[in-house]
Amino acid sequence: MMYFDNSATTRIDEEIFFAMMPWMQEKFGNASSPYSLGRQARVVIEEAREEIASSINAHPAEIIFTSGGTESNNAILKSACIESSLVDSLIISSIEHHAVEYPTEWLASQGFRTAIAPVDALGRILPDWQKLMPSARCLVSFMHANNEIGTIQDIASVKSLLPETSYLHTDAVQSYGKIPIDIDKMHVDFLSMSAHKIHGPKGIGAMFIRKGIDFKSHQQGGGQERNRRAGTESPALIIGFQMAVRKAMKEMEARDKHMRALQSQMRSMISQHIPQARINTPMDDAITLPSILNISFSKISDGESILQLMDMVGIAVSNGSACVSGSQQPSHVLQAIGLSDKEAKAAVRFSFCKDNTIEEVEMAVMQLKTIIDSMS
Ligand code: PLP
Repeated sequence: MMYFDNSATTRIDEEIFFAMMPWMQEKFGNASSPYSLGRQARVVIEEAREEIASSINAHPAEIIFTSGGTESNNAILKSACIESSLVDSLIISSIEHHAVEYPTEWLASQGFRTAIAPVDALGRILPDWQKLMPSARCLVSFMHANNEIGTIQDIASVKSLLPETSYLHTDAVQSYGKIPIDIDKMHVDFLSMSAHKIHGPKGIGAMFIRKGIDFKSHQQGGGQERNRRAGTESPALIIGFQMAVRKAMKEMEARDKHMRALQSQMRSMISQHIPQARINTPMDDAITLPSILNISFSKISDGESILQLMDMVGIAVSNGSACVSGSQQPSHVLQAIGLSDKEAKAAVRFSFCKDNTIEEVEMAVMQLKTIIDSMS
């Protein structure tokens, strides 16, 4: 099988998988226990926290482990808006992942003031977004890189436009480990991360919460993670996350170069061989992840059939978001960048990783051409 759905999830790195094993068997202690089995787990968790913190230039105390991007986004939005009452309004962009979009809808249904900032045809938030802020005590939650089309936002420029009473969150699930992130240069107060997008295990991620912020958790239970995320930590998952981060940081440049070559080859072959195609991912490398290429097709609205036919020839691709796959709903991201409902239903997202090859790209484009020609 050719796997081109690395933005949905990646194959766990073999070395990471084996390194996690002992922490589920012989070293099974609870990190909160006082005896050596527990202390051993505590030590590795704190080492991982340090390494993950340093990967984004944060302090270890600013890293809270969660089950992944969805939980981090929910916890940050709901804590800032409700439990901690840091803000009395919330603004997000029109292309956020559902893990930000839906909590925002829920907050709005509870009477919370919310606003949505539109984007341009490349998926960049329109410059006048501050005018839409419902109040000066606002949480701004703009994703760092989009999971469907790959657009990178200029998060670093956001904070200087905000009143001092506002806070800035970015969902960095797709960008973390792929492009450099420095929380000081980005001026963010909160950031969400996940391990399984960078060859780590599923079910583990983290949130960065800037020091000094009075963060109250909506999850009650044990006092783990400085009372900010109750629940027994998993040393196995945390070690897997740490190793994935270490490898991603070390190989970032090489992986970037490799994926950009795949992306560029696919882009030029599609332009050459599939005249019905429209490429929705921006051309400019400076505002685009190396890992994503999103394509839609004129006169074709049956995206699910394209995915099924690709699957039948052994190629795994998606329509952009694993959550909407199968639902036949047009993508809200593609609608936001100006595609019609029909076009937004028939997108294919190829997403690359370090293990994909140019030969795979070439074969996949030719298979896609055959399928699109047969449907046109
Ligand atoms: N945010 C973005 C931008 C994503 O792409 C994803 C997953 O696709 C998530 C959040 C959810 O992350 P997780 O699967 O770790 O819950």
